[in-house]
Amino acid sequence: MLADCIRHGLPCEQVTLLSPHPYLRYSGTVPGWIAGQYARDMGLVDLAGLARAAGVTFIPARARAIDAGAREVTSDAGEPLSFDIASIDTGGVGQAARILGEDPRLIDVRPIESFVDRLEARLSGDQAAKRIAVIGGGAGGVELAFALRNSAWLDRSAEIVVITGNDGLLPGFSPAVVAKVGDELARQGLECLSADARFENGQIVASGTPYDVDVVVAALGSGAPAWPGLGGLACDDQGFIAVDRHQRSVSHPHIFASADVASRTDRQVTRSGVNAVHTGPVLAANLRAVMKGQEPRQSYTPRTAQLYLISTGRGEAIASYGRFAYQGRMAAKLKHAIDMRWLSSYAALAKPM
Ligand SMILES: Cc1cc2nc3c(=O)[nH]c(=O)nc-3n(C[C@H](O)[C@H](O)[C@H](O)COP(=O)(O)OP(=O)(O)OC[C@H]3O[C@@H](n4cnc5c(N)ncnc54)[C@H](O)[C@@H]3O)c2cc1C
Repeated sequence: MLADCIRHGLPCEQVTLLSPHPYLRYSGTVPGWIAGQYARDMGLVDLAGLARAAGVTFIPARARAIDAGAREVTSDAGEPLSFDIASIDTGGVGQAARILGEDPRLIDVRPIESFVDRLEARLSGDQAAKRIAVIGGGAGGVELAFALRNSAWLDRSAEIVVITGNDGLLPGFSPAVVAKVGDELARQGLECLSADARFENGQIVASGTPYDVDVVVAALGSGAPAWPGLGGLACDDQGFIAVDRHQRSVSHPHIFASADVASRTDRQVTRSGVNAVHTGPVLAANLRAVMKGQEPRQSYTPRTAQLYLISTGRGEAIASYGRFAYQGRMAAKLKHAIDMRWLSSYAALAKPM
């Protein structure tokens, strides 16, 4: 929406952006930072600068509650914010402590903004980590495991186990991709276990086997924040905001939601950065339409096959496109080019202080 406002002007008298940080950390470059490919703050999108360029009022605060019927949001900023139309795009919340149990060694990848600080503080601290468990066998967990294996923070002798959950390695990906990733995990000396994990008596236990680990990095996918449902918005059975094909709340037509925090009622859309990015222009067009008193018309349809590029942390990536799998340096170059193009498109739009 910010990019749309910069290109086409404000759609109404006042647009306000509520976000706890003046930047957005692009998750795609975080594994590259861990593996030493990128500087720490390479993947920051300047939200405050985009808001300035768009003429949008930026309030650096986290939404804590919404009264969907009364059209009011309460945030850290104090004063409740009234709105005519709202768009909620706050992403998913971490669910590692709920699923695995609380433990001081647990580092949840969400929220990604503080993950970078939490991981750096632990791995660059005085106590070297010798045994690490990465919990989660999706693309995020796998990339983090490869990145950690190649991180300068860890000794080459450090043991890393990837515990995927009962659904196994890369659920939803083709057997060819799963085989390539499995082979690469073995080549890099990463143990892989397909089982659900949980903290029991101070250890991570999976399939009855206790793992005595120093650090547990969890990438368990997006959980739903509680406040939208508590504020009266209709949600799916997991708590994600239920929206129609136009990203419009099925209970409150003046509220829209997109990407990881939302759940389409007409079709399943995987929670991924790719789908989040492609939903953006559709959401912006629909918000513009309702602000003009028209019905929203646009709808996002994910492609049947989508390109995923999983970095191995060693200058290669594994490409997944439908049933097709490829591993090599070309895939890593393509991933880098796509990520840099995305980041620089926003850097070019932002207005510096
Ligand atoms: C390590 C890792 C690597 C990944 N790599 C890829 C990849 O290569 N390709 C891919 O397709 N997907 C990838 N993903 C998934 C991708 O990051 C998410 O699906 C995507 O970021 C979701 O976008 P979003 O806009 O819903 O949320 P986010 O990108 O999480 O953005 C949410 C924004 O809302 C703000 N916010 C949060 N709570 C509040 C609140 N209460 N009030 C106000 N603002 C709030 C946040 O600060 C943030 O700015 C990866 C995920 C991880 C964890």
